Amino acid sequence: MISYCNSLTEYSRRKTREVFIGDIPLGGNNPIRVQSMTTIDTMDTMGSVEQTLRMVEAGCEYVRITAPSIKEAQNLENIKNELRKRGCNVPLVADIHFTPNAAELAATIVEKVRVNPGNYADKKKFEQIEYTDQTYADEIRRIEDKFSPLVEICKKHGTAMRIGTNHGSLSDRIMSRYGDTPLGMVESALEFIRICELMDYKDLVISMKSSNPQVMVQAYRLLVNKLDEEGLEPYPLHLGVTEAGEAEDGRIKSAVGIGTLLEDGLGDTVRVSLTEEPEVEAPVAQIMVDRLSKKSNQSKIESIENYSIHPFEYHRRSTEEVLNFGHENVPRVIADFSKVEEVKPKDLKAIGHSYLPELDKWGMNDLGADYIYSGSNPIDFMLPNGLKEVMDYEGWQSCSDQRNKFPLITDLQKVESFHEKLNFIEVNADNYDQTIFGLLEKTTNTVLILYSEQSHATASIRRFVVELMNRNIQVPVVLKQVYPELTEDELMIYASTDAGTLYVDGIGDGIMLSPNFKPSVDTLRLYNNTAFGILQAARTRITKTEYISCPSCGRTLFDLQETTAMIRKRTDHLKGVKIGIMGCIVNGPGEMADADFGYVGSGKGKITLYKGQEVVKRSVPSERALDELIDLIKEHGKWVEPEGVEA
Ligand code: SF4
Repeated sequence: MISYCNSLTEYSRRKTREVFIGDIPLGGNNPIRVQSMTTIDTMDTMGSVEQTLRMVEAGCEYVRITAPSIKEAQNLENIKNELRKRGCNVPLVADIHFTPNAAELAATIVEKVRVNPGNYADKKKFEQIEYTDQTYADEIRRIEDKFSPLVEICKKHGTAMRIGTNHGSLSDRIMSRYGDTPLGMVESALEFIRICELMDYKDLVISMKSSNPQVMVQAYRLLVNKLDEEGLEPYPLHLGVTEAGEAEDGRIKSAVGIGTLLEDGLGDTVRVSLTEEPEVEAPVAQIMVDRLSKKSNQSKIESIENYSIHPFEYHRRSTEEVLNFGHENVPRVIADFSKVEEVKPKDLKAIGHSYLPELDKWGMNDLGADYIYSGSNPIDFMLPNGLKEVMDYEGWQSCSDQRNKFPLITDLQKVESFHEKLNFIEVNADNYDQTIFGLLEKTTNTVLILYSEQSHATASIRRFVVELMNRNIQVPVVLKQVYPELTEDELMIYASTDAGTLYVDGIGDGIMLSPNFKPSVDTLRLYNNTAFGILQAARTRITKTEYISCPSCGRTLFDLQETTAMIRKRTDHLKGVKIGIMGCIVNGPGEMADADFGYVGSGKGKITLYKGQEVVKRSVPSERALDELIDLIKEHGKWVEPEGVEA
């Protein structure tokens, strides 16, 4: 088995090296720490101090501040002094890109420096270079010359360092040899780690961030594997999804990536990056971390002998097609209305289907659920075309329209007849009758609805699916998760972690998020939007425009929240288009990674527009930039006019 975590069936945190960052140690037996980054100009000393204090108040245990040049690095001293004067001892981290001299100065002032191995010693020219082993080795020596002075300074001052790889800003050297891959990300960090170990400097923390949660998860897992394989120290991991975006998308994307790794037992500190005020981030991260404590009372899950999932590459589990589930169909969304006593047409608006009385027809937005589960409360009006009813088997057996409704079976012993095309069989992955496998081997019109009551539910469901894979049973699987009343943030984070973990591993042909209480219309909407958001974040069903917006920092050249809202307002009907919105041209183009179009701050009031990684229009005045972005989208055939469907 390819190793990357302690156990596939039991929550067990990977033991890492303890690293002191100021007085607050990280890794080892210490709790998983929460951190964030200021967004204010680093030269604004008082503004930075006030924002840091608010972040600490919100739960940040480390605060990162950007130091793009030597003058900001110098000003970290004033910020630090003022904070200490006010009784705040939070360790500070300087964020460095491209500027070794700023890093070397910052390392004498703050408790930790973050360097990006993609741009510390390299300037990106997007060149494809053929390296021989000799020229590659020469390159490594060049990096060593540039990087070792910083290591010496850190050693002397007791300063910790994060080697923070970013998927979108890998060096030309790495891109040429490994491509834009998780292995390239890992190798990018290893080049720097090896230098540190040779110099006997081990106060390191490592990160492997990407705006694509799938890539990010694979890279962290592979990093752990390679560190062990090479006999390097088990350095603590800093987890984060870059440029996750705002509101629900940002929370869901972060939880799919970070939550998956935490479930694996990986991660010693977490930063959730949202395009919102930085003090909002720590409480969201804390929800992810706190949930792990509930895993202490997990019951035993049978171990896995033959693990058939590849943890470092995405492969969707192969399944057969049952009606519109499985095979190459996108994962389906089942809205659970079983706790709603009497479903009315207007309730369907919460799951993307709206009745338009003036046209006497139904409209569906991009988040229109595919199925509605009515349980034992059958729906007594005609449903829109795109929505099919699933009902409990007992009710289905006696209903007059058996053909257009589908049964959900919980007790196979009681079944007298099946639907000819589609039957849902609900199975508890913790506790099931072995005869289920015999039945599944014979049927071709069945979809499983899998759930678990375990505190480590994802492991239980994954174990069951591996059993299916090992028996070559290709039945599609819907992942069902049941939740009590929670806050919005909790629901989004719990569900995204639970389902996202499995989707990243290629498991899941459908999703059903179920409230175990009588839900309001708003709750039904939240559950439905979260289900679609998870599929989008796991890149298995793209239903919305994707915004890869940076969280902003001291380099930001415009109001990111306002600009993102403005761009979203005019483009959020562009299903599947990825738009990067980046605060600065120094890191923005790299950090927006696989965006189709980019809107990047390149000077005061100036925007540079990108098609992929290529600059298309430079220094466009910001008043015209959105119109020009839309023109660019049109030129590349990705524009559609918004529809007037009420949502
Ligand atoms: S892209 Fe955004 S967060 Fe990243 S350095 Fe530039 S302004 Fe800061």
